[in-house]
Amino acid sequence: MTDYAAGIAAHGIHKSYRHRRVLAGVDLDVPAGTITAVLGPSGCGKTTLLRILAGFDDPDAGVVRIAGREVVGNGNVVAVHRRRVGLMPQEGALFPHLTVGGNVACGLTSGNGVTGQVAHWLDVVGLPGLADARPHELSGGQQQRVALARALAAQPRVLLLDEPFASLDAGLRVRGREDIAEILRAAGTTAVLVTHDQTEALSLADSVALLIDGTVAQHAAPADLYGRPANLQTARFVGATVELAGTCRAGVAHTALGAHPVRSGVADGPAVVVLRPEQLRTGDDGPGQSTARVRSCRFYGADTTVHVTLPDGSDLQLRSPGDARIAPGSTVTVEVVGDVLAYPSPPAG
Ligand code: ADP
Ligand code: MG
Repeated sequence: MTDYAAGIAAHGIHKSYRHRRVLAGVDLDVPAGTITAVLGPSGCGKTTLLRILAGFDDPDAGVVRIAGREVVGNGNVVAVHRRRVGLMPQEGALFPHLTVGGNVACGLTSGNGVTGQVAHWLDVVGLPGLADARPHELSGGQQQRVALARALAAQPRVLLLDEPFASLDAGLRVRGREDIAEILRAAGTTAVLVTHDQTEALSLADSVALLIDGTVAQHAAPADLYGRPANLQTARFVGATVELAGTCRAGVAHTALGAHPVRSGVADGPAVVVLRPEQLRTGDDGPGQSTARVRSCRFYGADTTVHVTLPDGSDLQLRSPGDARIAPGSTVTVEVVGDVLAYPSPPAG
């Protein structure tokens, strides 16, 4: 029986290398059977955190529980192989000199019926009949699935995936991550997926923990993280922002583009008003809309980016669906759709 019904709880994790503080009190709870993404910029300590969860590294302080059992903390350290935590590393996942089947067999915990077990795990990842292939004969996406089969074959309680799609081409990356998410969900695996790619985190995970400056800045469901970022820094990291200077009064933000309801509570006074690019629409002249002068347009296929200058001199970039190229110098109206986010203006200087 596969014991996947196990969560992770990591509390107060600190880790420094020499004089460099990497993790400064990370708290992360991963409910059993869910996929949690840890999202953060390159070098923010994502791999360090995974290595601590897996047991390849010890934290300077903090407690880690897996399936309710303390594996690090209060002087206890449970060895890597006794934690039943699978780690799919960032690079070089497969042994090139072994066949696909040989690679998957490395993960097996019991030597009984190896051929049958290998065939089973290759089936699970959608690669039946490829046991005799060599890794170099497979596409990047297929190689990732073999690495996943090997990790699952060890029947870990939890699976940690370290930027598993970073090395794939854009097209393969989307397919690869959708396939892998589906496999993990079908198997009911508890997984932590580390990535610097916000699209990947938002589209794959049940919840996303944002790791910034050594702590989890916010941990929320994808739509909440995108729609209600706790602060400006978080808003900037989980998607493109359009930022306007404004003033908030009684839950309404006033900017060069008009008055907009504010999504979450903010004190009255000067504010940085934040919207997502998809909330801006250009249109023909109409009442209650701001006019703007087009500076430049760039066509990207699915949409067109339009740079405009507002009457107050501020610049905006907006996205219009399809080929919406407009001659530079022309005037358009700009409308804000929906409510906005607002954060206190940072102190001047
Ligand atoms: P990420 O995976 O988010 O890119 P890492 O966890 O790999 O970040 O690294 C975080 C920081 O810790 C980096 O500045 C890195 O250089 C440093 N670091 C990681 N491992 C070690 C180590 N074994 N010795 C010294 N510094 C390390
Ligand atoms: Mg890393």
